Amino acid sequence: MIDKYAVFGNPIAHSKSPTIHSAFARDTKEEIIYEKILAPVDGFEDAITKFIIEGGKGANVTLPFKEKAFKLCNKLSELAECAKAVNTLVFSEDGSIQGDNTDGLGLIFDLKQSFGDLTGKRVLLIGAGGAARGAIFPLLQSGIISLVVCNRTYDKAKKLVTEYNDFSYIEAQEIDKVQGSFDIIINSTSASLSGQLPTISSSLITAKTCCYDMMYGAELTAFNQWALQQGAKRVQDGLGMLVGQAAKSFQLWRGKLPSNECQKSLIANIRKQLE
Ligand code: NDP
Repeated sequence: MIDKYAVFGNPIAHSKSPTIHSAFARDTKEEIIYEKILAPVDGFEDAITKFIIEGGKGANVTLPFKEKAFKLCNKLSELAECAKAVNTLVFSEDGSIQGDNTDGLGLIFDLKQSFGDLTGKRVLLIGAGGAARGAIFPLLQSGIISLVVCNRTYDKAKKLVTEYNDFSYIEAQEIDKVQGSFDIIINSTSASLSGQLPTISSSLITAKTCCYDMMYGAELTAFNQWALQQGAKRVQDGLGMLVGQAAKSFQLWRGKLPSNECQKSLIANIRKQLE
């Protein structure tokens, strides 16, 4: 029987995950079935149980179920523990459910592809929601020398940063009073979804600043458009992060990491489809 995987979300019709994982399977010569499953908002756990009974080997989890997936697991990776959210589930023969969070690794992969080596970089992370939570630990381990976290609701940024007391180079600042010089500014807010902008000062963007918006779409995101208008060196959206996190999930399930060439061509193909 061919091993079965799926992505669970609500809504889910828009998901690119089946396209991405089918391409990974071809690239690595693995045979898998990958589908998308619309789980009822109050029926995520039942949907997962049914999938396991039907022989499911693993799953991706997207909005709004990442926290519910975290609670469902009986084994968690360090990244999942830090993020308190799970986007990848591995179902074992012994009935255990292992949870991981590959979003941050996908982000690091794409930052490196887009802006080069992260060693010595000063980074500003805007936002303190689920995506920021998944990004912080991988960012702190990526070779950067400073990380400032700001958020519309300052207390959330402050609370998030206190979880990383062991690291001397992370701090929280108020979003409209951020000070410092940044090589990379990452927008992990959902503001771009409604064409809005986080209220950071335009003076933070210089001709040396690279800007990254985790959101992606056919057009430049509102944040990236604004960053270019302020004179940013480069901008990138989150499509590569999406493909990068999927590649890490695939590796957890099949033990093989899809090639960089495959990931790059997927990013180009999905971007064409978005147009
Ligand atoms: P959450 O709902 O958990 O968090 C939303 C964050 O955005 C909060 O920090 C919130 O601030 C902030 N925010 C919302 N509206 C505004 C606004 N108008 N101005 C300033 N800040 C605002 O969402 P997620 O963290 O899960 O997702 C955030 C974004 O990241 C989404 O666009 C999502 O699509 C993207 N994403 C992309 C991925 C990829 O693979 N490319 C993976 C995961 C997420 P406050 O706390 O004050 O409410």
